[in-house]
Amino acid sequence: MGKFRIHPSVLEVAEIFKKHQKEVYLVGGAVRDLVRGQPAKDWDLATDARPEEVQAMFRRVIPTGIKHGTVTILYKGLSIETTTFRIEGSYSDGRRPDTVSYASSIEEDLSRRDFTMNALALELPEQRLVDPFGGQKDIKDRVIRCVGNPIERFSEDGLRPLRALRFSAQLKFTIEDETLKAIPQTLYITEKVAMERVRDEVDKILASEQPSIAFRLMETTGLLALLFPEMQACRGVDQKGFHQFDVLDHLLLACDYAPKDKPAVRLAALFHDIGKPAVRDKDELGIWTFYRHEEVSAQLARDIMTRLRYPNALIDQVCHLIAVHMFHYDDQWTDAAVRRFIVRVGEPFLNDLFDLRRADTWGTTGREPPAALNQPLRDRIMALLAKNKALSIKDLAVNGEDLAQLGIPRGPMMGKILKELFETVLDDPEENRKEKLSLIARNLYEKLKQ
Ligand code: ATP
Ligand code: MG
Repeated sequence: MGKFRIHPSVLEVAEIFKKHQKEVYLVGGAVRDLVRGQPAKDWDLATDARPEEVQAMFRRVIPTGIKHGTVTILYKGLSIETTTFRIEGSYSDGRRPDTVSYASSIEEDLSRRDFTMNALALELPEQRLVDPFGGQKDIKDRVIRCVGNPIERFSEDGLRPLRALRFSAQLKFTIEDETLKAIPQTLYITEKVAMERVRDEVDKILASEQPSIAFRLMETTGLLALLFPEMQACRGVDQKGFHQFDVLDHLLLACDYAPKDKPAVRLAALFHDIGKPAVRDKDELGIWTFYRHEEVSAQLARDIMTRLRYPNALIDQVCHLIAVHMFHYDDQWTDAAVRRFIVRVGEPFLNDLFDLRRADTWGTTGREPPAALNQPLRDRIMALLAKNKALSIKDLAVNGEDLAQLGIPRGPMMGKILKELFETVLDDPEENRKEKLSLIARNLYEKLKQ
């Protein structure tokens, strides 16, 4: 029995490699996590067997990345990514290696990897640790350090600096000095990296406990100005009154305090005030104003997320949350006002919006808001939703067919009348009856057709 907890099916797979006289090692994040005393998340293997040989050894093998020597073994419910030892040629475009060739030993394979903590291998099935770059010690010291010369390693692949920051947020490790100092020196390489790859790292940062760790490091290394100039522009932009932080610190705190399992809310928090520098002005009393900043912020968020190739549905969700984030509830709100709020936000977005508000408030005061922060408004929403469901034109007691029978021609005028009826019902749900609405519709039509 080895000292690490390896999935029994992975050990069975390793026995099959051995039976074929092939070397096989557990590599990547799994070894890093096991050495940290954490359970492994996925099982990646490295072997001297060629992909065709692996395909011949197992019944179910998918050629997932045959160009890079990678196949995926499906074995008893696990998918195990298996890559033949390889070294990478130069990265002349800073994006992906020009060539990939097979290497003859695990040590050679490990030398192409990014950080010492990721350049460990565990020989299977006997669990002998291969650690040519001091990865174990760096994990113990909680340090992220490049394998070899950081400037060279970052020049090969400009994504690596961002990966270092991402791991720093995920693991709460510090970045070793020379590694950190190399980041500003290789920004011109990072600039060339495909935006999809950047986005995948940003997503992992946003799923970590405290994304601000990575964003603050981005700022000090110049990555923020490069990748998110709109955020960098928020540095030093003071806010008014009860705000203790400048706009950038406020955004980073709000992002930290948004639920980490809700990427849309985290993104909305990160960008919700990003339009403030553009709209900032002083009123007659010399007080800062940020007129309609939510609209400008939503537009800038859309620009950023489009640039990072986020899917449109997520962009729409995030920008909608930002656009509606400026509500100021008090108990003077009439039921009609609450109904209009529900319609404007949309029922499916209410929970996200309240999460965003909580994060926003937390990031304003620096103190955890009371659990009941949004409760009065939530209670009124619940009560109204339970009572009445007329929250869109579709819910009206009359439809286009009914109006047509009253002699109202289909077209833009009918659309206008339906909208007017809906407004009426929002003000007073009692009006949502066929006879009442028909009467109002007929009167409106008489007025409008002149
Ligand atoms: P996790 O999957 O938990 O995010 P990981 O370390 O497994 O972390 P992956 O992106 O899955 O990260 O990569 C697997 C391994 O491949 C890494 O541990 C590292 O050894 C190597 N690697 C990945 N990306 C790079 C890169 N851009 N440059 C050099 N080595 C890399
Ligand atoms: Mg991995």
